[in-house]
Amino acid sequence: METEFQRFICLVCGYIYDEAKGDLEHGLAPGTRFEDIPDDWHCPDCHVTKADFVAVKDMPVRGVSTDTGARVPAGGPSQEASFQDNAVVIIGAGMAGWAVAEGVRARDPERPIVLLANDGGDYYIKPQLSNGYAKGMDAATMVRESGVARAERLGIRLLTFIRALEIDRDRCRVITPRGGIPYESLVLATGAQPRRLAFLGSAPPLYVVNELRDYRRLRQSIDVQLGGTVAIVGAGLVGCELAEDLRTGGFSVVLLEQARRPLERLLPEPLAEELADRLRASGITFLPESRIEGIEADGSRHSLQLADGARIEADIVISALGIQPRVELARAAGLPCGQGVMVNGQLRTRDPGIFALGDCAEYGGQVMPFVFALRAQAEVISAQLCGEDLQYDPQSPVVVVKTPSLPLTVCPPPAGCSGVWQLIEAGSDGSHFECRRQGELVGYALSGSMTARARSLETAPLTRQKAVA
Ligand SMILES: Cc1cc2nc3c(=O)[nH]c(=O)nc-3n(C[C@H](O)[C@H](O)[C@H](O)COP(=O)(O)OP(=O)(O)OC[C@H]3O[C@@H](n4cnc5c(N)ncnc54)[C@H](O)[C@@H]3O)c2cc1C
Repeated sequence: METEFQRFICLVCGYIYDEAKGDLEHGLAPGTRFEDIPDDWHCPDCHVTKADFVAVKDMPVRGVSTDTGARVPAGGPSQEASFQDNAVVIIGAGMAGWAVAEGVRARDPERPIVLLANDGGDYYIKPQLSNGYAKGMDAATMVRESGVARAERLGIRLLTFIRALEIDRDRCRVITPRGGIPYESLVLATGAQPRRLAFLGSAPPLYVVNELRDYRRLRQSIDVQLGGTVAIVGAGLVGCELAEDLRTGGFSVVLLEQARRPLERLLPEPLAEELADRLRASGITFLPESRIEGIEADGSRHSLQLADGARIEADIVISALGIQPRVELARAAGLPCGQGVMVNGQLRTRDPGIFALGDCAEYGGQVMPFVFALRAQAEVISAQLCGEDLQYDPQSPVVVVKTPSLPLTVCPPPAGCSGVWQLIEAGSDGSHFECRRQGELVGYALSGSMTARARSLETAPLTRQKAVA
C-alpha cells in the first residue's frame, strides 16, 4: 500500500523537501520519494548530504518552541543562550535586510543585531543579475562584499545557511533548525519568490533569475552552451533585460510573451510597440501572444509546445514571470497579509515589535519591489528601532529599464489608477509620454535621449493618486 507523502527537513539550514511537490528546479519530479533520491544528492541550499535530513514528523523537539508546536532539532547545545534578548533580528540577507542592519548600526554602535541568511549572506546588487552577463560578470564578481566581511565591518552577528521556520510571537523567538533566536524587535526582509509556470504533469526544471544562487546556477549551464538558444518566458522587466543581455552576450534568444507587447503593464502602447521593434532589430525573436502548453526535454534540448501548435526548440529555458512576496512566515504567525506582509506608516506589522520591508512588504495596498523603495523603508525602520519617529512617505517608483536597444525611464501610474497616456513629444531618438488623471501627472514614460527629463518631472503625491484611482 502506498504510504502518504512525507516532508524531510535539512537539520543544518532548514530546507524542506516535500515528496509530493518534489523539487523541479533541482531535478526531482513531484512524487519522488526521499528514499529514491540518489545518495550523492545534496541539500540545494547548504550542500550537506541526505544524511543530514530527517522526516519533519520525526524531528526531535528541543526547548524553546514546544508550546507553539514548532519542532526544533536536538543534537548540539541550544544556541539560544548565546543571544542577547534585546537583539534586533533580521530575517533575510538581501539588499533590504542588509540596509536595515546598516541603518541601525549607523545610529547605534552597541545594539545587538542578528541577521539570518539562508545562503552565505554575500552582499550583491540584485539589479545586476539581468545585465551582468554582457559585462562579463559572473556570480563571484557580482559579490561586492562577502557576508562575513560585511558582518564584521558592521559589528553584527550573521548566521549563514539558516532558514527561519517559524515566529513564536508569544516568546519573541525566531525558530530555526538550529534552535530559537530571541528578539526584542524582528524585521522581515524575506523578499519575493519567482512565479512559476503551472503545468499539468512534470516539466523539466526551468531557470529563474531572482537571487545570486539562481544566477550562479544559470551561468553553470549557459557557460557550456555558449552561442546556443535561450528561450525566455515572460517579457516583463526581468525578461526583456535578460533577453538583451544574453543576446549581446552572443546567444540566440527567443522571448515569449502571453500579452501583445513587452512591458505591456508599464508602458503606453506606442512605446511598448517600439520596444518590440527594437528588441527584434537587436536580433531577439520576440513572440507575443504566445501561450506555452508544455515543455519537453531530450537531454539538454528543450521543446516548448505553444497553444497555437508551434514548437520552439531551445538549449536553455528561463522563466521570468514576475514575483510573489514571501509571506508564509508572517501569515503562519497570524500577521495580516495581502499581496505582501501588511505594514503601517512606521512599517510595523500588526505586531508592533515586527517590521517588514522590501519585496515582501505591502504598504497602502501596494508592494514596491524596487531598490529605491527598500532603501527608504530601511531608513524608517532603522529610525523607529532607535527611537526616532520617522514615517514612511512612499514615492512614485521611477524605473530605469536596462534595455540598451531602447533606454527607458518609466514612472508607472499606480495599479488601478485609470489615467490617460498622451504623447508629449517625439524626437528622432526618443519620446516623452505622460499619464494624467483629472489633470494631475500620475505617471510618465521616457525613451532614448528624453530619459534625462525624469529629473524635472514631478508626479502628484502617491496618496492623492491612489485617492483618485
Ligand atoms: C533580475 C532582477 C533585476 C532587477 N532590476 C532592478 C532594477 O533595475 N531597479 C530596481 O529598483 N529594482 C530591480 N530589481 C528589484 C530589486 O532588486 C529588489 O526589489 C530588491 O533587491 C529586493 O530586495 P529584498 O532584500 O527585499 O529581497 P531579496 O533580495 O529577495 O532578499 C530576501 C532574502 O531573504 C531570504 N529568505 C527568504 N525567506 C527566508 C527565511 N525563512 N529564512 C532566511 N532567509 C530567508 C531569501 O532567500 C533572500 O536571500 C530587480 C530584481 C531582479 C530579480
